[in-house]
Amino acid sequence: MKEKLEKIIASAQDEIAAGDTLHQLNQLKSKFLGKKSELMDMMKQMSSLSSEEKPEAGKLLNLAKKQINRLLNSRELEIKELDYRRTLSIEQIDITMPGRRREKGSLHPITLVMQEIEDIFISMGFDIAEGPDIEDEFHNFDALNTPKDHPARDLSDTFYIGDDVLLRTQTSTVQVRVMQNHKPPIRIISPGSCYRNENDASHSPMFHQVEALVVDDGINFADLRDILNVFVKKVFGDQIESRFRPHFFPFTEPSAEIDISCVKCYGKGCNLCKGSGWLEMGGAGMVDPNVFEMLDIDSEKYTGYAFGLGIERIAMIKYKIPDMRLLYENDVRFLRQF
Ligand SMILES: [Zn+2]
Repeated sequence: MKEKLEKIIASAQDEIAAGDTLHQLNQLKSKFLGKKSELMDMMKQMSSLSSEEKPEAGKLLNLAKKQINRLLNSRELEIKELDYRRTLSIEQIDITMPGRRREKGSLHPITLVMQEIEDIFISMGFDIAEGPDIEDEFHNFDALNTPKDHPARDLSDTFYIGDDVLLRTQTSTVQVRVMQNHKPPIRIISPGSCYRNENDASHSPMFHQVEALVVDDGINFADLRDILNVFVKKVFGDQIESRFRPHFFPFTEPSAEIDISCVKCYGKGCNLCKGSGWLEMGGAGMVDPNVFEMLDIDSEKYTGYAFGLGIERIAMIKYKIPDMRLLYENDVRFLRQF
């Protein structure tokens, strides 16, 4: 019997060592330990043994069973370990491979310039005022001293939505709203979108302006020059100068156009400034007393200045953008540069 058991164990050892899947191991388990296995047969035959032989035989059979179980268990661990390693090598992640990049968004050049302008004026004590894009004729024209027959009121220049409803053509409308609701001293800028019926390389039907309004006792033209000079140097650099040219606007008197020395040639003359050495920046002037009267501000007591700057114009000069339409085409290759 001992010999027979040794033979069974030896063949179990060989077959279990050769098994390399868990499925095979299961089959081997029933072959060597199952109901129809030789070992089980021998256990069943125990009853035919004498009572002296029984304990010794039982001991041997149990040992054999334990040994086969041990062989099965250790082979099972080995197979699991191999499977695990195989899975690892298949699913291995190459941490040196470049990842899939998620493109980072950035602010639009108009927004960048707008924020920079706001920061500069806030640092000089200005508040930011906002108003609606959809306006009436009073705020867009009447209160700004624009005569009824002024060409700017024409349908070909202004987008009318209804009889007395239009898209504001300038952010000066916000100045009117501020003067209606606040008594001087007033010191605000109003950045925002404006709309005019024009479209070419230097005009867009929707564009952005920042307007400034300062009203107080004793405000004069020198204050206006000062603040613009500081502003221009902060945006474009210390070497840039500004100058005023006489002009006419309905709501300021006197009025001026603001130029800055060319950012490319510093006044010598180049293709950017078309040889003049100067670039147009916007309009400015002392608030017309008529405007004050219309808004119940004492024009004997108070004076004020206002100016308006084109944000696109500043962005184009600052970032050397040749065509305004680039700002609105949303071409990612263009926008990515900011
Ligand atoms: Zn130039």
